[in-house]
Amino acid sequence: MNTANDNSPRDVDVIVVGAGFAGMYMLHRLRGLGLRTRVLEAGSSVGGTWYWNRYPGARVDTETMFYSYQFSDELQQDWDWTERYPSQPEIHAYARHVADRFDLWPDIQFDTSVMRSLWDEESRRWTVETAAGEQLTAPYCIMATGCLSAPNTPDFKGLDSFDGPIFHTAHWPEKGVDFAGQRVAVIGTGSSGVQSIPMIAQQADQLTVFQRTANYVIPARNRPMAADEVSEIKANYPELRARAAASFSGNYFPGGGASAMAVSEEERNREYESRWQYGGLAFMAAYADFMTSEAANETASEFIRNKIRGIVDDPETAELLAPKQLFMCKRLCVGTDYYETYNRENVSLVDVSETPIEEITPDGVRVGDTVYAADSLVLATGFDAMTGALKRIDIRGVDDVALRDLWEDGPRAYLGLAISKFPNMFIITGPGSPSVLTNMIPSIEQHVNWITDCLAHMRDEGLSRVEPEADAQEDWVAHVNDVADLSMRATCSSWYLGSNVEGKPRVFMPYIGGFPTYVKKCDAVAEAGYTGFSFA
Ligand code: NAP
Repeated sequence: MNTANDNSPRDVDVIVVGAGFAGMYMLHRLRGLGLRTRVLEAGSSVGGTWYWNRYPGARVDTETMFYSYQFSDELQQDWDWTERYPSQPEIHAYARHVADRFDLWPDIQFDTSVMRSLWDEESRRWTVETAAGEQLTAPYCIMATGCLSAPNTPDFKGLDSFDGPIFHTAHWPEKGVDFAGQRVAVIGTGSSGVQSIPMIAQQADQLTVFQRTANYVIPARNRPMAADEVSEIKANYPELRARAAASFSGNYFPGGGASAMAVSEEERNREYESRWQYGGLAFMAAYADFMTSEAANETASEFIRNKIRGIVDDPETAELLAPKQLFMCKRLCVGTDYYETYNRENVSLVDVSETPIEEITPDGVRVGDTVYAADSLVLATGFDAMTGALKRIDIRGVDDVALRDLWEDGPRAYLGLAISKFPNMFIITGPGSPSVLTNMIPSIEQHVNWITDCLAHMRDEGLSRVEPEADAQEDWVAHVNDVADLSMRATCSSWYLGSNVEGKPRVFMPYIGGFPTYVKKCDAVAEAGYTGFSFA
């Protein structure tokens, strides 16, 4: 592996920040345009979220035959996924394979955190500064920094005083952690907690889970991929990918009904049961009105609550685990033996919804007057989603305006792709694009393809500066908000809204108008000569 280093050129055509699935594909496409590119990556390998999130049980919850690149038919035909929902090591191996196959390594500089990115109008260049003080310049800067990449560590009183090790699921040690013989406390019951809790429970002597909000967890039904299933999907990839692209979330789910209320209770429950047995996120596609009809939503919610009551032996624990908020309002979780884990004698659940965690003490977690003893602490407390990774970099555009300041009341970006006052800068799957509400890899590919086309257009037209018009951006942000207001998804506390991070403005960040509608809009903008962008 030969990677970019201090001796590589400092002045290039494009700087890409991040070597996850977005940064890798962006590099590949920029090479195709003949642009000299340097990718700066904080981690020591490619893969982004699939490099950092190495916690026990980490695996994708989208069917991986579809959570994969489609830009290269050779790649999708050659690569063999072994499980329906591959684990982090397998996805990371896939990322490395892609880097090998397309010879990406020489242009990626690892262990390099970007601290600042400054626009200079006179030279029409970005200067990007790393934590090591290195400066690189380029006319274009592309932020492939990810939507869920800035870990959120709540400001628990006394956290520093804890005597044992503290692990964040999003920053797990590469060599793994052995919890054998230990008392472990896990804080957080989102997707990362849901996946890691059953695994930690198998190892630890005692596990105490601190739950602030119960989540809906659908069984994954993970299994090895059968050879004939793989070959059938591979043979039909173009058609299956097209079907996924035409669906609201860009995912391949078995189709469902228009309204849960239009069918009898018996039929509805048959549908729910079949999706519960099928496993995974496809449960969301049972009926189209879960986010527009409270009555429809309640039917799915109660079905799942009853499942929990049927699985968990202790009725009090079952009631604590039964979610109170709308189904799908928070991101749906997919798990393996999640509810079953609470039947183990070494696992206990502490509800902190009404009495919050007071402090972390040297030997445990205090809630009210009780200290729950722990030797190790696991923070499964999620991310400063969508804006965190960008705001943690000091990005300055025209007239030295700071992105952090401009976004103080919430993110504003045109199509979630570019930001007014930040010329020649693009963001991949930024706020205001469907991103986290969709299958991420197709969404990444769509953005990368769009940006590549825009850069090719500029090259062909002899243009060197592009920036969204303020009015077009405001119209798009207003549209994103209007669409969000139509959905009940924006009504409960969730990271989509920023409510998991103290002090973060409450703004529904992703575009909830659906993947096909969004793609049409982006294509129309490009076909009309990039309406809403000004060029020079
Ligand atoms: P998350 O969904 O935001 O969950 C964080 C958990 O920590 C929540 O239960 C939250 O409670 C709790 N928490 C935060 N601050 C707390 C505090 N001060 N006191 C007590 N509890 C606190 O984060 P995540 O589990 O890392 O997942 C984030 C997203 O990443 C997922 O929704 C998904 O999109 C993605 N992800 C995907 C996979 C996969 O593909 N399999 C796996 C992991 C993550 P509240 O709910 O009350 O805020």
